[in-house]
Amino acid sequence: MVESFKIDSARARLVFDSRGDATIEVELKSGKTTARVAAPAGKSRGKREVEYYPDNNAAEAVSVFNSVVSKRLAGRDPADQRGIDELLTEIDGTGRFEKIGGNAAYATSVAASVLAARLMEKQPYEHIASLSGQKPQIPMPLGNVLGGGSHAGEGAPDIQEVLVFPAAVDEPLEAVKAVVAVHKALGSLLTKRVPGFTKGRGDEGAYSPNMTNEEALAAVKETIEHVSDELGIQLRMGIDMAASSLYSEADKQYNHKRSGKTLDRRGQIEYVGKLIEEYGLRYVEDPLQEDDMQGFAELRKSYGGTTLICGDDLLVTRAELVKEAGKIGAVNAMIIKPNQVGTLTATIEAAREATSYGIAKIVSHRSGETCDGVLAHIAVGLGANLIKAGIMGGERIAKANELLRIWESSRGSLGLSRLA
Ligand code: PEP
Ligand code: MG
Repeated sequence: MVESFKIDSARARLVFDSRGDATIEVELKSGKTTARVAAPAGKSRGKREVEYYPDNNAAEAVSVFNSVVSKRLAGRDPADQRGIDELLTEIDGTGRFEKIGGNAAYATSVAASVLAARLMEKQPYEHIASLSGQKPQIPMPLGNVLGGGSHAGEGAPDIQEVLVFPAAVDEPLEAVKAVVAVHKALGSLLTKRVPGFTKGRGDEGAYSPNMTNEEALAAVKETIEHVSDELGIQLRMGIDMAASSLYSEADKQYNHKRSGKTLDRRGQIEYVGKLIEEYGLRYVEDPLQEDDMQGFAELRKSYGGTTLICGDDLLVTRAELVKEAGKIGAVNAMIIKPNQVGTLTATIEAAREATSYGIAKIVSHRSGETCDGVLAHIAVGLGANLIKAGIMGGERIAKANELLRIWESSRGSLGLSRLA
């Protein structure tokens, strides 16, 4: 007989994220077992993401949860993930979590999976892998080391994130060490190179110097070459252009404010293509604005080669958009941010769709984060190729540290992702 569990009580509280913004934390209890998850928040958000909060107010979401949602969860089986997620969708009733808040749904949905895992005496990643049907594996860290755009102040590059990842390693510790080493070495290089640089960092802990895109890419390239030689690990470089943040719908142009460049659609495709070629970029996220899926396909055809062309705002973790992109070959990688879509079930559907089209899965943090390490379990349980969780700062390194704990607890039974 399959053992069944039940949620005895559910409550929400207001806590704060790494930007100091209010967010919701949900706590579920069953007997003496507790699971607690707090929601992150994005700044460069896709327009097809769910609503985070009713009336944009985290306190209102806490109040709705404690007065309406909590009693409906009591008595439910936390291992029935689909049932829990359907219940949240039904209570909300708007299709976009406008009433209960997508972040309340996210925190509840993920907390249910953690509670179920604890009650089954499993690791959360093992339970998530059995829900997803994906082969669990340890993803490589994709760390943000230098950034600008909407995550940093004036003078920083227009590119939102310059990222690095190891191609292949024998154990995750080497991978984390390598990405940390790049961040450290880059800090020293920027101190020497950029007049007045005070080691300032943006929202995700990446350095945010007064530099152009090209100067930033050259600095990171030089740093990874040096660190690769020193550690004997092949490191790759990539970017998140977060192009929707640069795009003006009114004049159909990409405005690169820092560099004073204004590009039309064709200009943007050629500009990103030139960066891929000149700097050997192996990863390019959101090179174009979120309504131009065809543009992603064109870019991939002309410049894709060995580069991962990745959709974030383009796909917002929605299975139907992944399918659309898969059919026209628009991307060969996708960002998976569970709070873009609100539930673990919908996240799993998007991940499965990605696998069916051979699209690489990149589980990602948000720019406003908490110290929860649960993202690492989601990444391993969905069989992600990369985990994009920054690298420096308590809320970022928390995910890398959890990955190391997962590896240790698996006693080598998990495979490690390898990227060419
Ligand atoms: C991103 O764009 O990939 C990102 C992590 O930013 P945000 O969380 O602000 O959407
Ligand atoms: Mg992005």
